[in-house]
Amino acid sequence: MSFVTRLQWFFRERWGSYALAIGLMTIVSLLTTIPPKLIGNTVDHIRDGDLTRAGLTQTVLILVGLALLLYGMVYVWITTLFGNSALIEKLLRGRMLGHLTRMTPSFYQRNSTGQLMALATNDILAIGQTAGYGVMTLVNTLVGATVVIVTMISFIDFKLMLAALIPLPFLAVVINRLGRKVRVRFMEAQASFGRMNEHALESISGIRVIRSYVQEDADLAAFGRVTTEVMNKNKQVSKLNALFQPLISLIVGVSYSIGIGYGSYLVIEQQITLGQLISFNIYLGMLIWPMISFGEFINVLQRGSASADRLETALSQEPDMKDADAPVDVAIPAQIEMNHLTFTYPTAAHPSLSDVSFKLERGETLGIVGRTGSGKSTLLKQLLRQYPVDPGQLLLSDVSVERIAIDRMKRWVAYVPQEHLLLSKSIRDNIALGKPEATEAEIAKAVEMASFTEDIAGMAQGLDTIVGENGVMLSGGQKQRLAIARALLVDSEILLLDDALSAVDARTEARILRHIRQERAGKTTLIATHRLSAVSHANWILVLDEGRVVEEGTHEQLLLFGGWYREQWDRQQMEASLEE
Ligand code: ATP
Ligand code: MG
Repeated sequence: MSFVTRLQWFFRERWGSYALAIGLMTIVSLLTTIPPKLIGNTVDHIRDGDLTRAGLTQTVLILVGLALLLYGMVYVWITTLFGNSALIEKLLRGRMLGHLTRMTPSFYQRNSTGQLMALATNDILAIGQTAGYGVMTLVNTLVGATVVIVTMISFIDFKLMLAALIPLPFLAVVINRLGRKVRVRFMEAQASFGRMNEHALESISGIRVIRSYVQEDADLAAFGRVTTEVMNKNKQVSKLNALFQPLISLIVGVSYSIGIGYGSYLVIEQQITLGQLISFNIYLGMLIWPMISFGEFINVLQRGSASADRLETALSQEPDMKDADAPVDVAIPAQIEMNHLTFTYPTAAHPSLSDVSFKLERGETLGIVGRTGSGKSTLLKQLLRQYPVDPGQLLLSDVSVERIAIDRMKRWVAYVPQEHLLLSKSIRDNIALGKPEATEAEIAKAVEMASFTEDIAGMAQGLDTIVGENGVMLSGGQKQRLAIARALLVDSEILLLDDALSAVDARTEARILRHIRQERAGKTTLIATHRLSAVSHANWILVLDEGRVVEEGTHEQLLLFGGWYREQWDRQQMEASLEE
């Protein structure tokens, strides 16, 4: 019963509406036993020849009145029950997104986007079905069967009922077996649906790369294999599903045969009347629906609990980053200090940063340079608090970061990542992401500081231009400057620029850096870059190699030192003068 335990909170919260629906369903089941009884009675009156006009009219009126009453009640319980389905889906989707926003990068390394999407769509749908349709079939089975059986015993004949119901236990056994198999196969089907999502996502987002390498056919073929797998897995599920109905018909057929055969014998023996036999057979017919319901219930329940398990697995994963129990209240980050920091990504075999130390006062600028893969981005990311660090290795205002509230820390930091992430909204919305209440003047200023004003003036809708998915309609340099404007708008204590100016020309870069220096006087900036001119003004520069600091100092000191920095600087200066 993992489904019920997993969704206990929901059933508890909505018990009132469930009680209403179940109560109505019970009353409906009770009321539906009346017509067969009336029909049986009428037949007996016909046989005895004492049917009166008044009696018949009364019977008909009762039947019509009952039908109307049932109609109303069924309407109410259906809307209540399926309203719960819709509600649980909404709540679970909200929960899921809330969970996803709290997760750190390592979660996304473990769970692919495709699988998460499958959870948010198919699995949550299956859970919603179980919470509505599943409950309906369960109540139908239990209440429907009980009411009919009790009526059969009390109004007709115990022996006949027993005989006609002999086949039922077999049904229960077989359905139980089938149900377990359905669950296993359904889990497999959902997993392959997730893989298909993943593939579709990657194909669509990577379509330009795929085309340029002329891999359309290969990708299509690979996708074909994935969809074939999904189809086969779903076929496996529906093959089992298909077994349910015929099985139930078979059992019901056997019941009917016994009912008619043995029932006729009892009529001849005068143990029951003809009318009772007719009523009995109608009741037997009324048992079909609870039996089908039972099959459906097992089926839906198995799928729902498979999905609930899958969802639970994702939702139960704790974020790697948790707030300290008693966070230290740090008003402003007066210094940033790394103290022999060594950091290894959770999935990596070797550290990406080894024994890195520096100390930066508020208002200073730190430059981080080094070959590709040397750990520059990794160093900046330490300030984003996405991965745990060992206590005492990263300190702000002399307080170890794990003792500072994560939210507080995030508010201090503005980050321009190396791969820019834009939302498919307007340029204005993208810039105002971190400060939705920003005024026009503030936005204009941030745009100006990022040297983005002229570009926007050239666009048809200006700031209201929609940038398309991840900014497809912007050039690389425009995307970078948009990302810079976004970061400058929030005017944060700490600014992290990760290779943020690589796609703009040297002159624009110099202008943006000048703006940043002027506007951010008194605030701290960390710049990782390949172009050394971007950090020549920095108060301190680290040269990284394989995660270690191999040279450090001011620009002048590093030039005098004559190592990698000097060599790189001379080469870049020469290239620049050649370009001029
Ligand atoms: P570039 O100049 O190309 O941007 P970088 O100096 O910024 O390079 P990092 O991105 O910090 O380099 O990567 C440093 C090392 O850490 C690399 O060896 C890289 O393979 C590894 N690395 C980066 N991100 C992860 C990750 N999420 N999981 C595991 N290893 C990672
Ligand atoms: Mg990098």
